[in-house]
Amino acid sequence: MLSQFRSFLAGIVIALGAASAHAAIPVVATTTLVADLVQQIGGDRVTVEALMGPGVDPHLYKASARDVTRLSRAEAVFYSGLFLEGRMEDLFKRLATSRRKVFAVTADIPHESLIQPSQSDGHADPHVWGDPALWKIAARTVARGLGEVDPGGTAGYQTRLQDLEAKFDKLRTWAEARVAEIPKDQRVLITSHDAFNYFGRAFGFEVVGVQGISTASEAGLADITKVADLVRSRKLKALFIESSVSPAAIERISRDSGARVGGELFSDALGQPGDVRKVGGESYDVGTYTGMLRHNVNTVVESLK
Ligand SMILES: [Zn+2]
Repeated sequence: MLSQFRSFLAGIVIALGAASAHAAIPVVATTTLVADLVQQIGGDRVTVEALMGPGVDPHLYKASARDVTRLSRAEAVFYSGLFLEGRMEDLFKRLATSRRKVFAVTADIPHESLIQPSQSDGHADPHVWGDPALWKIAARTVARGLGEVDPGGTAGYQTRLQDLEAKFDKLRTWAEARVAEIPKDQRVLITSHDAFNYFGRAFGFEVVGVQGISTASEAGLADITKVADLVRSRKLKALFIESSVSPAAIERISRDSGARVGGELFSDALGQPGDVRKVGGESYDVGTYTGMLRHNVNTVVESLK
């Protein structure tokens, strides 16, 4: 009886030991875009928590006391970087000095690939995910970071990285073909803030953001008049609002210029996970990076072609 009980106990201990050896690594990410990247590469070896939900503006986001607790308990922290999360920069520095594994997913993008906006205060444009080729570099940084935290998972991270890189390549080719449907003189993308410079460079759009690189400064009347004049002189058909920024300035320009609001684009945040949209016989989940980019391309092409 006693020996049976002992072997029963031993069984529990073995089961617990096995469970802890395979326990998922708790990771905290800032934006939904970064969380998606970590989840795609981490697979079931990680549990990813995003501090910012869909529709949250990272330029203005301040960490709450609860966020600080989550960040300090995580085994790894991934953030976008390039001052996208401008009000959390000091917090990342503090975490990095407290032996936390903290990674900016944009850290390995070569300096010459970054866009330096003329009116910025020395910071590069942080919205690199608009170009799948640059988001691929971010994916490699995530795979390397996860491998540092969990060397046993390296093979899996590399396999998933390769799958994701192939997906991003396919996405880019598909997007180029869709954009070719828009007449060249209509390839102008007018949005609330300057989140689409990399997207524009990758796919051949002239990009105009009413509010500039960050949403921290509001659009003035002069900006609104300037953009409305541009819309009229170029005879542009549509402008676009963003899911994480107030639509007021774009709606005003639409009224002043007569161009319609062509739809909502995802700029700094993904959509709700599981929100599957159907456009032109295709369906995709706007809660993922690839679904979000497909949605943006389809929305823009359908409005401007
Ligand atoms: Zn932004």
